[in-house]
Amino acid sequence: MVINDMNNIAQHLQLVQDRIAKAASESSRPLGDIHLLAVSKTKPIADIEQAYAAGQRQFGENYVQEAIEKIQQLTHKYPDMRWHLIGPLQSNKSRQVAEHFDWVQTVDRLKIAQRLSEQRPSHLPPLNICLQVNVSGESSKSGLIPAEALALAASLADLPGLRLRGLMAIPEHTDDVARLESQFLELKQLFDRMAEIYPDVDTLSMGMSEDLEMAVACGSTLVRVGTAIFGTRN
Ligand SMILES: *Cc1c(COP(=O)(O)O)cnc(C)c1O
Repeated sequence: MVINDMNNIAQHLQLVQDRIAKAASESSRPLGDIHLLAVSKTKPIADIEQAYAAGQRQFGENYVQEAIEKIQQLTHKYPDMRWHLIGPLQSNKSRQVAEHFDWVQTVDRLKIAQRLSEQRPSHLPPLNICLQVNVSGESSKSGLIPAEALALAASLADLPGLRLRGLMAIPEHTDDVARLESQFLELKQLFDRMAEIYPDVDTLSMGMSEDLEMAVACGSTLVRVGTAIFGTRN
């Protein structure tokens, strides 16, 4: 398979949708509960337009500057595209993010949440937020430990520019399937506790190109897929 052939984006999207459908059916979950975020970081505008033409509406980007350029070029042409920031967010970029994105999945401290809320333009709906949780406990990874996530969720409830939607995690890269599964399940447990307290919480963002089946089996509602749609990144 020539995975970098641009004309294959629609085909790859279909393959990913098929994988999601199969995983949903195997765990007896309604397919409508599982959404696909196409991760377009480092990929050109033309690739995003191909994915859009094939029906994809939600896109994920990691780097603020790159993302803003894409959003500014695409937004007028395709007003129903939705943009998620899934990469780290520094405070000096928060205003641009609050003005251009629909979702930020990497909130892990109150300070940044407060800035995003204050800087969210009043003509836009509240910014959708996922708290990033570090389930693997690796010190190299950003994200909250589970107990901190519940505390931060409580503080977010008072911020009018934000709408808390759920949790996001990037598990450690491991071939140990059981270990990965236990991390996904720990996240699912935390998500269920949050959803009981906060009625808007409906999003559990976990699973990528290589592990989306297990993520769906463990309760993911949003899989973030880059390589399997757009090909390998340089
Ligand atoms: C790049 C990235 C993805 C997509 O990863 P693939 O393995 O290419 O599917 C998903 N989530 C995050 C946070 C990423 O940075």
